[in-house]
Amino acid sequence: MADKTGVLVLGEVFAGIISPHTHEMFAAGTKLAEELGQPLTLAMLGTGFEDAEPYLEALDDSITVVWHEVLEGEPFFYMAWVDVAADVVRSGDYRAVISPGTGIGVDWTPRLAARCGLPLVSWSTGIAVADGKIAVTRDVLGGRAETTVSCDADTTVVIALEPGMIEPIHIGTAEALTLADVFAEFSVDSSGTTVDTSVSRPPLKEAERVVSGGRGLIDGEGVKKLEALADVLNAAIGASGAAVLQEILPHEMQVGSSGVVIRPKLYLAVGLSGSPQHTYGMKDAQYIVAINQDEGAPIFQMADFGVVGDLHQILPALVEELKS
Ligand SMILES: Cc1cc2nc3c(=O)[nH]c(=O)nc-3n(C[C@H](O)[C@H](O)[C@H](O)COP(=O)(O)OP(=O)(O)OC[C@H]3O[C@@H](n4cnc5c(N)ncnc54)[C@H](O)[C@@H]3O)c2cc1C
Repeated sequence: MADKTGVLVLGEVFAGIISPHTHEMFAAGTKLAEELGQPLTLAMLGTGFEDAEPYLEALDDSITVVWHEVLEGEPFFYMAWVDVAADVVRSGDYRAVISPGTGIGVDWTPRLAARCGLPLVSWSTGIAVADGKIAVTRDVLGGRAETTVSCDADTTVVIALEPGMIEPIHIGTAEALTLADVFAEFSVDSSGTTVDTSVSRPPLKEAERVVSGGRGLIDGEGVKKLEALADVLNAAIGASGAAVLQEILPHEMQVGSSGVVIRPKLYLAVGLSGSPQHTYGMKDAQYIVAINQDEGAPIFQMADFGVVGDLHQILPALVEELKS
């Protein structure tokens, strides 16, 4: 079979906003194309192109930019992205397709690979060229180990790139945007959340202080106590996978291997056990404080400061203490 040529990056535009992860995928794609000595194509998928288009005007002429509108509209939203992305992928004979491994991307990227009958490397953390082959590193065992997948030159490979792994190359002036702006477009998907979104808090990925809640919050009452602490600390709110699964907190707040990876100065882990999938996303915080009623919870092993007790009593007391 003939060798494939070129690198395709599937960027995302949500209502005119280029997603922050697109800048990371673009950086990964640029480097890969350079190392392969092959052309780069940037496909922008989404809506509101008239607002986003000017940001890409400054791009090098050697980069092909194509725009593909995704017609939104529940309940077929993700399938619409797959339809459009599949058309773009089939329009070339690319060696690599770099696709988002974000909370939204994980919904359509595997379907895209299946639709096009292509191999998928998920949870990818880095892309390089070794011995003429594309070598993709990926996390296994919830981030406790890393493996490298070597991709043959005669097969197109879809690479779902994890967010937060690659230093982004900012396209235009979109660096002012935040993940929160992007996910705001998707509030319709976070049914069941009890978070008061009318209050403005620092964006999770950029916040110096983050208070994260887990399954121990139980319900909206627990969330209110967490919000009160976030407000007094001017902190962003994060969530564990179990809190998201039980619809206590929305998915865009999930910290961990399938959420965001953050490095705040202060990370307060409240009522969460500290699973490897969770700690993957916050282990590099400068100070970690844990509140948990189980003194054997793994989160205490990495905490700089731990409080053993019932969060429902500790949080209001802590808020009062901080206020005074
Ligand atoms: C492929 C895959 C990807 C995943 N990705 C992620 C991810 O990105 N992020 C993530 O977080 N998880 C992820 N998970 C889920 C992960 O494995 C765990 O299930 C999850 O992190 C557990 O969430 P938790 O700590 O809130 O719940 P639990 O493990 O159930 O812990 C709840 C904790 O709350 C404490 N608690 C209960 N009540 C109170 C109280 N009143 N006061 C104080 N403490 C209390 C308990 O002692 C316990 O330690 C993933 C799983 C899979 C399979």
